[in-house]
Amino acid sequence: MELIGIKGLGPKTVKSLNNLDINNVDDLVNYYPYRYNVIERTDITHLEDNQNIIIDGIVESNANVFYFGHMNRMTFRLNSGTRIFNVTIFNRAFFKSKVRIGERVSVFGKYNLKNNAITANDMRFGMLKDTKEIEPIYHTTKGLSNKQMHQFIIEALNLAYDYPDYVPDYLVSKYHFMNKKDSIQVIHNPLNDLFLKRALDHLKYEELFIFAARMNMLKLYRKQDIGLKRNVSYTDVLNLVNKLPFKLTHDQEGSMQEIYNDLISPKRMNRLLQGDVGSGKTIVAFIALYINYLGGYMGALMAPTEILAEQHYAKFKSLFKDYDIKVALLTGKTKKAERTKILEDLKDGKIDVLIGTHALISDRVEYKKLGLVITDEQHRFGVNQRSMLMNKGVVPDVLYLSATPIPRTYALSIYGDMDISSIHTMPLGRTPIQTYIKSNDDIKEVLTSMLKEIKAGHQVYAIAPMITSDDEESRESVENLKNEMNKAFSKICTVGILHGKMKDDQKNEVMQDFKDNKIQILVSTTVIEVGIDVPNATMMVIFDADSFGLSTLHQLRGRVGRSNLASTCYLITDNATDRLNILEQTTDGFRISEEDFKNRGSGDLFGLRQSGGMTFKVANLMQDFDLFLKAKDDSLEFIKKYIDYVPYKDIKNKIIESNKAS
Ligand code: ADP
Ligand code: MG
Repeated sequence: MELIGIKGLGPKTVKSLNNLDINNVDDLVNYYPYRYNVIERTDITHLEDNQNIIIDGIVESNANVFYFGHMNRMTFRLNSGTRIFNVTIFNRAFFKSKVRIGERVSVFGKYNLKNNAITANDMRFGMLKDTKEIEPIYHTTKGLSNKQMHQFIIEALNLAYDYPDYVPDYLVSKYHFMNKKDSIQVIHNPLNDLFLKRALDHLKYEELFIFAARMNMLKLYRKQDIGLKRNVSYTDVLNLVNKLPFKLTHDQEGSMQEIYNDLISPKRMNRLLQGDVGSGKTIVAFIALYINYLGGYMGALMAPTEILAEQHYAKFKSLFKDYDIKVALLTGKTKKAERTKILEDLKDGKIDVLIGTHALISDRVEYKKLGLVITDEQHRFGVNQRSMLMNKGVVPDVLYLSATPIPRTYALSIYGDMDISSIHTMPLGRTPIQTYIKSNDDIKEVLTSMLKEIKAGHQVYAIAPMITSDDEESRESVENLKNEMNKAFSKICTVGILHGKMKDDQKNEVMQDFKDNKIQILVSTTVIEVGIDVPNATMMVIFDADSFGLSTLHQLRGRVGRSNLASTCYLITDNATDRLNILEQTTDGFRISEEDFKNRGSGDLFGLRQSGGMTFKVANLMQDFDLFLKAKDDSLEFIKKYIDYVPYKDIKNKIIESNKAS
């Protein structure tokens, strides 16, 4: 059903909704909130310093506004009936004329005991409801407020008539799930916690069930695969290994053996090679390409970015310069004539190894005899792409490289259709990064330490979780942090800033300047997680560290310690809990991720979230891991009982069909 019939929805708003990939009424009702605000009046008889507070009352003084730069600060007094508070709120000067004596307003913010003041992060006109409100919050886009979004969805709920449930009926009964239609109604309009939880249980399970069903389907299907059997002797492989400029680590060698066994056996390889950044996965991948080459097949290595593809290509060429292996590079930058030539050569079987970006597996690329596909980080494609590869009629062996260490037990469940090799140890000769947890009171010590590093000619990262912040004192935003760093260091070095709202070419420029050491302190949000490699950077300072998951902190920390220089990481937080201690104790990504799983509430399974097929609207693989295990078993049983192999995209229809049949 068209969006345009919905009350209050004009062509302009339809466009905004289209930007969010909402194109009809069904899309709209299936656009789930990503979180909820709980609104309940705070009992103000005993307030503590720094307490989060929600109150309402009557304005006692007209608002005062101060402007500074692009910012402004509004203050007024609010009478709650029993007490009077001083309220400060940033960047709401546009409300000034409405905040008048006698006006009723509600305020959301933090209480400061010393000044009997509230620093508000939000305010509304009118009093609070007397019962607790649960307010759904949606991802919105320019020209569309959360309130409008909610309004439109509520209207759409009256129009939509079809609420397909992708959980088989017998499982809905088994788990006593709320029915699908009610579940959708409730998540958009939660009256209380209990109903919301029951609605979410159903929707989470549904997402996990579909995901698990697809995974199980692939796994069952793979058993019937006939893979490529290669005739390669291990001695030939060892001959290469003995010529390497370094000795392989124990785990690299183990992984290599596992891959060798897969490649010489008729079983199709579908293997994940996981290990921290820098653990040496590339060389193992190269050896796999070599084994595949000796077996008489072509191989492809896909990298997430052009830069990485070029780097792999250069390394591969230099490693195999004395061998007769024909290798080519294909990226978005490859000129047309050269591209045509490469595509021809691939068809004719004149290339042994092709390295490039993910265009390598696009429909236009035809291989004469493709035997092995390796994907390096990030393009670890989701189950959907994997099955696409199969449906093209090509059944090469596949190896995925991942820098996200996940404990084996979890990896086996999440990547249920893959075998797993892990590299736990780093090559010899790396100096482990020293990590220290500090509070904001220790900031002088940290700044002194930064100064020392900069004077020694090295560079520093300073990370904060947010781009802007209402609280100008805090170090939670990169904007505040940049100002503070400039105050402290502008005389001796250059401070740069990097965040996700900047344009791509702006970001590239800043990164390049940091690489070229034109910037010594790079203040950044977590956007630097991806791909930056600056060996001269030796210090990582992460502010508001407790707001990140352990795996994210570990990945961020991995940006330093990339040379033989000693490196340091400071985690700054005033809410130090035991959770962060593990980072002081170890740099082993597997142990850290194990810990993340133990504290599932605060864990983040870095990197996994983004990979295709694993993006859920309400479920969270880590937090809902137990539910996932159920869905996994249930879906396997369901598939075996009710359906034969179907392509990935048809699974949802099959579930619905089986419900109609029973
Ligand atoms: P990643 O696992 O992050 O892909 P790389 O494969 O890029 O790591 O390896 C990081 C660096 O370590 C490279 O410069 C590589 O040549 C080097 N390296 C890999 N294995 C060893 C080893 N066994 N001994 C010494 N250096 C090694
Ligand atoms: Mg790598």
